Amino acid sequence: MAIRFSQPKPLHKLRYLTRTLNSASSSISAVSPLNFAEKPEPTIEKHDPFSSPLNIYDHEKLFSLISSAKLLRSVFNLNLAAVEPVVDLGKWVMNSRLMDIDITREAVTGLVRHTFYEHFCAGESSAEAERCVEKVNEAGLRGMLVYAVEHTDDENECDQNLRGFLQTVESAKTLAPSSVSFVVAKISAICPMSILKRVSDLLRWQQKDSSFRLPWKFNDFPIFSDHSPLYHTLERPEPLTQEEENELQVGYDRLLKLCRECEEGNVPLVLDAEDTVVQPAIDYLTYASAITYNKVDNIIVYNTIQAYLKDAKERMLLATEAAEKMGVPMGFKLVRGAYMSSESRVATSLGCESPIHNSIQETHACYNECASFMLDKIANGFGALVLATHNVDSGQMAAAKAMDLGIDKRSSRLEFAQLYGMSEALSFGLKNAGFKVSKYMPYGPIDMVMPYLLRRAEENKGFLAASNLDRQLMSKELKRRLSASIF
Ligand SMILES: Cc1cc2nc3c(=O)[nH]c(=O)nc-3n(C[C@H](O)[C@H](O)[C@H](O)COP(=O)(O)OP(=O)(O)OC[C@H]3O[C@@H](n4cnc5c(N)ncnc54)[C@H](O)[C@@H]3O)c2cc1C
Repeated sequence: MAIRFSQPKPLHKLRYLTRTLNSASSSISAVSPLNFAEKPEPTIEKHDPFSSPLNIYDHEKLFSLISSAKLLRSVFNLNLAAVEPVVDLGKWVMNSRLMDIDITREAVTGLVRHTFYEHFCAGESSAEAERCVEKVNEAGLRGMLVYAVEHTDDENECDQNLRGFLQTVESAKTLAPSSVSFVVAKISAICPMSILKRVSDLLRWQQKDSSFRLPWKFNDFPIFSDHSPLYHTLERPEPLTQEEENELQVGYDRLLKLCRECEEGNVPLVLDAEDTVVQPAIDYLTYASAITYNKVDNIIVYNTIQAYLKDAKERMLLATEAAEKMGVPMGFKLVRGAYMSSESRVATSLGCESPIHNSIQETHACYNECASFMLDKIANGFGALVLATHNVDSGQMAAAKAMDLGIDKRSSRLEFAQLYGMSEALSFGLKNAGFKVSKYMPYGPIDMVMPYLLRRAEENKGFLAASNLDRQLMSKELKRRLSASIF
């Protein structure tokens, strides 16, 4: 499949655009994350720095604002995270009964705190997270603040989680304007999972049978395409009981309260994408709140699209088309997707085809096409996009296309984002090229953030592959400083 990006003008600088999308992976992303351990490490010497609009190989320039002590800690932690047996052992211990014994729990927690937690998380409290955002700002980046709670089925926990998200908005207000680019939330943390599953079932059934009535349903954008998999719902579901309807309303009210606070605090809200079992309900609630809060000159609510899903591009197109017709500007965070193993497990257990593209190349192609589609929209004055990726080629291509289209690099409609502690080379390369770049910064007490860290460890063989480039460049920069006695 050929690249859909239009040819930028300075051809000599953008040779990479003539590659096919199927070869779009950088030396890093070409390594399938799932087979990371079996593949040779990429070498940075292979790259021609003049073949891309970003310079992500000049370690001296990239890390000029990072202290040697921080670089040293990062190299240590990234190397540790790249040793699969260490990560596997850590996961095993944390899920085992050993964590019920005080002394083991304290030892493990202490170890995690001074390694992975410090590296990948912004702090235990909102005050620590605020200080961390300030440091990130000093390096020229912005913070996407994430109160890192996972899903729940308990109404009291939903209330508690909402308070945590609202505190995040307060932090954003306390900090210098625009130093926090987004507040991030998970709908499954403020609306019980059981309700999200029921609502998703009902929405899927309505997609199968348009005469199926959902009296509680608000106005929203399309959440399925004709090709969306509907296999999770094999039988006609019972309507919501009155109690379930009330729970749904309470969950939606929590989301609206968060949107209201974000609007008042002048900070947009991004809602994370989750598993396809509950994603229809998440899309539904997100779009319904976007219709209420997004204004032409102020996009408050962003949804997340996972490009690893076969129907991702169609769904993005349909939602954008409907939003345009309704005059509601829509913002999207574009990711590849983090639930590969659970999605495959569920589909296989039901004897169905996986909803995920058959190859990583197809996922890369889908990601780049969705990015291209939204960049065209932004150039025409509609919508907004957060390109959340560690993939160097996707970053380079999107940057080239944005420049080609004449999109203002400082526009509030376009943001690049990487996880805190990951893909520093790409973040600083994009920042040095003039783009707005954020770090996705989870925070919260270590016990609470542990599931986030475990989930990342589980899914993160791809991330760790991406961190190879960081490790190599950081090591080179440390060696350079050492030989020049700049410490
Ligand atoms: C700022 C930020 C926010 C994020 N928010 C979310 C979120 O809300 N929801 C969410 O689900 N994820 C989220 N993620 C994680 C994201 O989905 C990816 O897991 C992660 O970023 C790795 O993808 P990449 O774009 O960096 O590319 P790469 O590392 O180049 O690609 C790895 C990705 O490709 C896909 N892939 C791997 N193997 C195959 C295969 N065999 N077939 C098909 N596809 C394959 C997977 O999605 C895998 O994660 C977020 C990531 C970032 C940086």
